[in-house]
Amino acid sequence: MRIEDYQHWARRAVDWTADYLRGLRARPVRPDIAPGSVAARLPAAPPEEPEPLETIFADFEAIVPDAMTHWQHPRFFAYFPANAHRASMLAEHLVAGMAAQCMLWQTSPAATEIEGRMVEWLAAALGLPRGWSGLIQDSASTATLCAILTMRERALDWAGNRQGLSGAPRLRIYASAQNHSSVDKACWIAGIGQENLVRIPTRPDFGMDPAALERAIAADLAAGHLPAGVVAVTGGTAIGACDPVAEIAAVARRHGLYLHLDAAWAGAAMICPEFRPLWAGVEEVDSLVVNPHKWLGANFDCSVQFLKDPAAQIRTLALRPDYLQTLGRSEIVNYSEWTVPLGRRFRALKLWFLLRAEGLSGLRRMIRDHVRWARMARDLIAADPAFEIATEPTLALFTFRLRAGDAATRALIEAVNAGGRAFLTQTMHEGRFVIRMTVGTIDCTEADVRAACDAIIAAARAPG
Ligand SMILES: *Cc1c(COP(=O)(O)O)cnc(C)c1O
Repeated sequence: MRIEDYQHWARRAVDWTADYLRGLRARPVRPDIAPGSVAARLPAAPPEEPEPLETIFADFEAIVPDAMTHWQHPRFFAYFPANAHRASMLAEHLVAGMAAQCMLWQTSPAATEIEGRMVEWLAAALGLPRGWSGLIQDSASTATLCAILTMRERALDWAGNRQGLSGAPRLRIYASAQNHSSVDKACWIAGIGQENLVRIPTRPDFGMDPAALERAIAADLAAGHLPAGVVAVTGGTAIGACDPVAEIAAVARRHGLYLHLDAAWAGAAMICPEFRPLWAGVEEVDSLVVNPHKWLGANFDCSVQFLKDPAAQIRTLALRPDYLQTLGRSEIVNYSEWTVPLGRRFRALKLWFLLRAEGLSGLRRMIRDHVRWARMARDLIAADPAFEIATEPTLALFTFRLRAGDAATRALIEAVNAGGRAFLTQTMHEGRFVIRMTVGTIDCTEADVRAACDAIIAAARAPG
């Protein structure tokens, strides 16, 4: 493709995107299509000869948008949001054009230095202690994996990377049942094993019970196992559970354990000081992950892992073969030495654009609106006698169900989602099927939240 053609089509793509975003409210949030229907429209083999962009673009318009679930739709209340602020989209386009590999300072000086500064900016915005460092990962899953690998190597005095794990003591990692499946997967990948991820019971508020954590560690020590670390959560995925971070940190410190806090979704809200009690004690953790690619509006992927002291993680993951040496500069930061992949995207630019274009004040306003509207939605649904609130709002997430039971609740969410006016997802809570509602997309308005509640209540009244 010639640069002139790129210029023409890039303009077309931007115009298309603007029209798409303006028209989102008129689309069903989730498409009503059968699995396989998209693949059936694509040829089985790639083209031998070049095709005109006109044809390719027309096929995109004909095949793709109607077969997408629209995450930027103002009535998307499912999972957690994955927002893409316009300023951040612009930065992504510029990054795509430069297409740099950001593994070393030398391969991308501006990317490395802006990444360092953006980690500092975000730490300040979240009220974290001065002096923390960190990096931008692709996902919270990777950040949690890096933290668990660090727990492993630290507990083994860095013998695992050299000798492997056979013959090593049984390593133990502690987390509550409200933690995300990425913790399980990290234990698999790290060679620690599912059976050595110890699930600590929760208190009535669904936060991890520190006394139970203490007992589990003592039992493991008595059995000759090797406790390695604790993963706590602020804003668990199912119902938004928050562990008591300060109390857990005290237990971890007493036993010399590394502590990682997963605030992938809820962390964004901590730009508002009034929400920070939810993670009181955060200054005590060793590692913390917050995903600006969820609520804050940096389009995927952009997951910031903060580290009180990066030395242990770098010692676990840095590997510097001859061909990656930067001659004469051994003191510079090479972020690939802090994580698993070598190649890295220039993710900091979208954070730079986003934080400047919206300002912390603009982002705080958005988060506060969402939290307020989630409470409003909770009240609207609670006011209907057919419903009961299963869990109260944590920030902008709450869960509810029909008093009529699991089957009726399941039928209700299927009807709402099939209707296309809103999209929500479900979870199991204390053995019961509940609907999750999380408010959080950037173009959502109070009217959208009311419309979704109307659709939910109307579907519950509908015969059948
Ligand atoms: C979304 C989420 C994750 C996973 O995030 P990825 O960036 O998709 O890996 C982990 N933990 C919590 C609490 C989450 O909400």
